[in-house]
Amino acid sequence: MIDALRDFFETYLRGSWTSIVDILLVAFVIYWLFILIRGTRAVRIVIGLSILYLVYLAAIFFGFDLLRRLMETAAVVGLFAVVVVFQPELRRALEQIGRIGSVNRFFVSAEVAGAERVAREISRASRILAGSRHGALIVLERETGLTDLATESGVPVHADLRAELLVTIFYRGTALHDGAVIISGDRISAAGVLLPMSQTALDSERYGTRHRAAIGISEQTDAVVVVVSEETGSISLVVRGRIERNLTEDQLRRRIFNLIRPQPPRRAVPFLRRSLDGRWQVGRAEPDPAEPVDPEARVVAAPDRGALRR
Ligand code: ATP
Ligand code: MG
Repeated sequence: MIDALRDFFETYLRGSWTSIVDILLVAFVIYWLFILIRGTRAVRIVIGLSILYLVYLAAIFFGFDLLRRLMETAAVVGLFAVVVVFQPELRRALEQIGRIGSVNRFFVSAEVAGAERVAREISRASRILAGSRHGALIVLERETGLTDLATESGVPVHADLRAELLVTIFYRGTALHDGAVIISGDRISAAGVLLPMSQTALDSERYGTRHRAAIGISEQTDAVVVVVSEETGSISLVVRGRIERNLTEDQLRRRIFNLIRPQPPRRAVPFLRRSLDGRWQVGRAEPDPAEPVDPEARVVAAPDRGALRR
C-alpha cells in the first residue's frame, strides 16, 4: 500500500507544481460532474457503467478473451449510446460552462426578473385558489432534481408558468387537480405528481395528507413548497420541513423570491453530504435559520416585511 502510494507520487508529482494543478483540476472536473448528475437518473447509469467496467477488468485479469473482445466492441457502440442517454446532462454541462465568468453579470438581471415573475405568478394563483377554496400543492424545484419524481407518477405539462394555468389545474374535478404541480425554473413541468409523505408522528395528528406530503418532499429535497388548504383557504410555505402558515399573497411572493432568486457564488467549496433519500447533496442549499429540533418548532411565524432584506 505504502509502496503504491510512493509510486503514485513519484510518477505523477515528481516535485513539479504543474502535476499538482493537474490533479486538482481533474478532482474539480470529477466533483463538478458529480454535482451535475446528482438527483437524476444518470446516477444509476453511471453505477451501471462502473459495474460493466469492473466486469471488463475481471475479464482481462482472468484471461477471458472472448468476453473481453465482446465488451470492447460493445464499448464503441456504447459510446454513442452514452451521448444519447446523457444528452440532458451534457446540455446542462455546456450551459453551465457558458454561464461561468464575467459574462454572467449581463444575464443576472434577466434571472432576477425571471425569479420575480415565478414568485408573482405562484402567489397570485395561490390567492385566487385560496379565495375559491381550492386545494393546491406546488413544488418549486431548486438544486435537487425532481425529474425522476415527476416522470414516475405525474403527467408532463411543459408549459409556461401562468397563474391562470395553475388555477385551472387545481380546479376541483379536473383530471390533474389531485396531487402536486412541479415547477422547474419558469415552467410548469408536471402535474398530478404523488409526493412522499412525512412520517413524523406529530404530523399525522396535526396535518392532513396534502400538508404532510409538502413537509415530506421538503425534508427530502431542497424544494420550496406552497400549499393552499382546501378546508381553511390558508396559504402555507414549506421549506426544509418547516411550515410557515397563513401567508398573504404579498408575503408569499417575497418569500418565494428570496428562496429562488439567483444566489451570489459560494465562497468555499461546500462539503458533499448524503440526503435522506440517499442522494448526494452539496452542503446546505441555502442559509436557512436553524433546523427544527422538536416537531413543534416546525411551525414558524409568518415573515415580516424585513424578510426581503435577508
Ligand atoms: P386541506 O387543508 O386542503 O384539506 P389536508 O392537509 O387536510 O389539506 P387532505 O384533506 O388529506 O389534506 O388533502 C387531500 C388532497 O391532497 C388529495 O386529494 C391530493 O390532491 C393531495 N395529496 C394528498 N397526498 C398527496 C401526496 N402524497 N402527493 C401529492 N398530493 C397529495
Ligand atoms: Mg383536509
